[in-house]
Amino acid sequence: DAAVAQVEGLIRDIPDFPKPGIIFKDITPLLGDAAGFRTAVDLLADSIEGPMPDYIVGTESRGFIFGAALAYHIGAGFIPVRKPGKLPSDVYACEYKLEYGTDALEVHRDALSQGARTLIVDDLLATGGTARATGDLLRRLGAEMLGYSFVIELSFLNAREHMIDAPVNAIVRV
Ligand code: IMP
Repeated sequence: DAAVAQVEGLIRDIPDFPKPGIIFKDITPLLGDAAGFRTAVDLLADSIEGPMPDYIVGTESRGFIFGAALAYHIGAGFIPVRKPGKLPSDVYACEYKLEYGTDALEVHRDALSQGARTLIVDDLLATGGTARATGDLLRRLGAEMLGYSFVIELSFLNAREHMIDAPVNAIVRV
């Protein structure tokens, strides 16, 4: 598919970032390419099947970039899920495991009303820890989860197998 190839061609591999042995998928060339960025957001929108989300939920910080653009494109609201201590009002927090240690994500308790339809968006799916923590937060808010949507999926990590609560979509699977 030409649109998918366009997006894939604008993602660059950076070896040994942020530490030795890791090949980082750098999306800044995609963001900087006007046509490519638009194609990526269009593909995210095209992948939505069934009812449209009331809210796009984006995870700090690259999920904000694609999530906000997608929300604007489809006429949905945007809910930021942030690192601890960033959101000013009352929050729910969810801890999740990293390779070494733990991290946490937070969302405002009053971000949405019960049953609101939500779609989680992030740039990249690796182990799935970030996405699953975001899903946990949405369940605590009483949201309906329509799915997870990513620009890139590192499919060799098999995160999808553990994300059985909602459909998982990715534009580029590597
Ligand atoms: P996971 O929680 O292991 O699935 O990691 C996904 C999160 O880490 C996402 O929020 C990504 O933005 C970030 N991330 C992990 N690896 C990469 C990468 O190679 N490029 C860009 N972001 C990454």
